[in-house]
Amino acid sequence: MIKITLPDGAIKEVAEGSSPFDVAKSISEGLARNVISAKFDDTTVEATTPLTKDGSLTLYTWNNDEGKKAFWHSTSHVVAQALEELYPGIKLTIGPAIENGFYYDVDLGDQVISEKDFPAIEKKALEIAREKHDFKMREVSKSEALAYYKGQNNAYKVELIENLTDGEITFCDHSTFTDLCRGGHIPNTGIIKAIKILSVAGAYWRGDEKNKQLTRVYGISFPKQKELTAYLELLEEAKKRDHRKLGKELELFTFSQKVGQGLPLWLPKGAALRERLEDFLKKAQKKAGYEMVVTPHIGQKELYVTSGHYAKYGEDSFQPINTPKEGEEFLLKPMNCPHHCEIYNSSPFSYKDLPKRFAEFGTVYRYEQSGELHGLTRVRGFTQDDAHIFCTQEQLNDEFKNVIDLTLYVLGSLGFENFTAQVSVRDLEKPEKYIGDATNWEKAEQAIIDAAEEKGLNYVIETGEAAFYGPKLDFMVKDALGRNWQLGTIQVDYNLPERFDLTYKGSDNELHRPVMIHRAPFGSMERFVALLLEHTGGNFPLWLIPKQAIILPVSEKHEKYAEKVLNSLENHEIRALIDSRNETVGKKIREAELKKIPFMLIVGENEEEAETISVRKHGGEDLGSISISKFSDLVSKEINSTLKSF
Ligand SMILES: [Zn+2]
Ligand SMILES: [Zn+2]
Repeated sequence: MIKITLPDGAIKEVAEGSSPFDVAKSISEGLARNVISAKFDDTTVEATTPLTKDGSLTLYTWNNDEGKKAFWHSTSHVVAQALEELYPGIKLTIGPAIENGFYYDVDLGDQVISEKDFPAIEKKALEIAREKHDFKMREVSKSEALAYYKGQNNAYKVELIENLTDGEITFCDHSTFTDLCRGGHIPNTGIIKAIKILSVAGAYWRGDEKNKQLTRVYGISFPKQKELTAYLELLEEAKKRDHRKLGKELELFTFSQKVGQGLPLWLPKGAALRERLEDFLKKAQKKAGYEMVVTPHIGQKELYVTSGHYAKYGEDSFQPINTPKEGEEFLLKPMNCPHHCEIYNSSPFSYKDLPKRFAEFGTVYRYEQSGELHGLTRVRGFTQDDAHIFCTQEQLNDEFKNVIDLTLYVLGSLGFENFTAQVSVRDLEKPEKYIGDATNWEKAEQAIIDAAEEKGLNYVIETGEAAFYGPKLDFMVKDALGRNWQLGTIQVDYNLPERFDLTYKGSDNELHRPVMIHRAPFGSMERFVALLLEHTGGNFPLWLIPKQAIILPVSEKHEKYAEKVLNSLENHEIRALIDSRNETVGKKIREAELKKIPFMLIVGENEEEAETISVRKHGGEDLGSISISKFSDLVSKEINSTLKSF
C-alpha cells in the first residue's frame, strides 16, 4: 500500500500502482468522472499514471486551469494528427497549451493553410476525437527516439531529442499517431466535443528569427459545444471592444511610424479625457494631503545607478544621451522614484513633518521589444499617476489605509465593482532574496494585512510574491468580459531610502530612515484608458466622456436656436456639440449612437417655440421635450450617482 496526501491534508491509503483516477474513484464516482489530469508531488501526471510511492496528489478537472491545460494540450495532438492526414509530408515541431487554447507549430514545406481550410481541419480533428482514443505515454531510449524521427526526416524533433537526456524521453500515442511529449494529457480523446481553429501566424523555430519560419496553428477546444459557442461570442465582443479599434473610432489616440513605435499620440479628445482623469485624481489627492511636484524626463545615469534602476532598465534599453562637450551622460527616466527621493533630500525633515506625499503625473520611458508592443497596454513611453509617500514605520498602517481609500474611490468612480486585492509577502524560507530589516518587514506585512482587513477588502495573500525591497498590495480588476487586469499597486520600500540615504530627525533627536510607499491607482494613464475602453466599450461614465450631448437641429432653420442651446449648456458646464450637417435627423441619430454620445438633443419647430429640447438617450430611450435647466439637473444627478466627492 502507498500513502497519498490530498490537498486538504487528508491521507488515502491505496494499493501500489493505483492511478490518480483510482484515487478519485475512492473519493467519489462523480469526481472520478470529471478528473482529467493530475499533479503528483511536483510533476504533472496523467490521470491513468500508476503511482508507485507515497506522495501528494492534486486532481484536476476542466474547472481548474491545469485541467484546461491538459485538455488543450491533448487537443493539440489530435489537431497535429489531423494536419498530418490532410497535409502529407509536413513536419511537426511543438504543440503546447496556452492561456486560451493551444497552438501547434508546423513546417508545411510549400503547402499553405489559410482561414478557408479551418473547417476541414476542425472536421477531421473532431472525427478523430470521436473515435475515443486513449492517450498512452511510453518511455523510449534516446537512440530509439532519434531513429524514429530521423526515419521521418524531421530535423526539428531530432534537435529537441538531442537536447534531452536518455532515460527521460517519452512518446505519447493515441490512435495511429505518435508524438514526442513530456506528458500532461487527458485520458481519452472522446471528451473533446468541440474544436475551433482560431488563426494561423508565422513563428520562427525556437523563437529565433535566424531560423526557419514555421506556421503556427492556433486553436481551442471544449468539453461541450455550448461552451465553444459562448467563448466565440466573448471573442466577438472583445473584438468590438478592442481599445485600439475604439480609440480610433472615438478619435482618442493614434500612432505614427514617423514618431516611432510604442509612442502614443493623444488626439484632442483623448487629451481632454486624460486631463479630466488627472483633474479628478488631483482633486482627491489634494484632499488626501498630497503635494504635486514636477521632475524632468531625463536624469544623470548615476542617479539610476544609485537607485538600482540602471541594472534593471539600463543596459539593454535606450542608450544614454550625451553632452559631447561636457562629457555628461543622461538616461530617459524609467521611474519617477529616484527624482522624488532627491526632492525629499532637498530639505531636512523632522518626525513632525512626516508623512510627506509627493505626487506627479510623470512620464517614463522603457524599452520594449517592438514585437511586444500592443496598443496602449504595452508602450515605450507612458505617464504614471505616481506618488511617493515618505513616513515613519508607525505611520505605515494609516498611510496604507489612506491609499486603499483613494484607490477604492478611483475604482468606484469609474464603474469597477469587481476586484480583489492581492497582498504579496516574503517567502520566509528564502531570507536571502530580500533586503532590509526582518522586524520591519514583519511590521510592514502586518500593516498591509491589517489595513486590508480594516478596510474590508476581499484579499488573498501570495507568499514569495513580494518585491526584493518590500511587500505590496495589488488591485486585480475583472472587466465587463470577465478578464483580469492588474491595476493600482501599493508598494512598501525599504531599499530606496537606504540607497538615497533619506533621513528624518526623530523625537529622540536622532536621525532615522523613513519608509517609502510607491503607489499609482491608475497604474499608467495609457493602460488605464485602454482598460476603461475595453471595460465600458467606449460608453464612459458621464462625468468623463468627451461629449455628453449632441444637438441635432431638424433643419437649417433651427441652427440659431441650436447655437443658443449650446451656449446655455456651456453655462451649465455640459460638454456638447452641434451636428449642423445637411442630413436627416435619422442619420444624425444613427451616427451619434455610433459615437456613443450619451444624450441626443433634437431641436425643431416645437422645441424652439417652447424653448425646450427633445432628449433621446444613447440606446434609444425617449425622455421627451424638457427645458434646458431640467436637462442640466438630469445630467448632474446622473454624474453624482457615480462620481461622489472624496
Ligand atoms: Zn503531449
Ligand atoms: Zn516609485
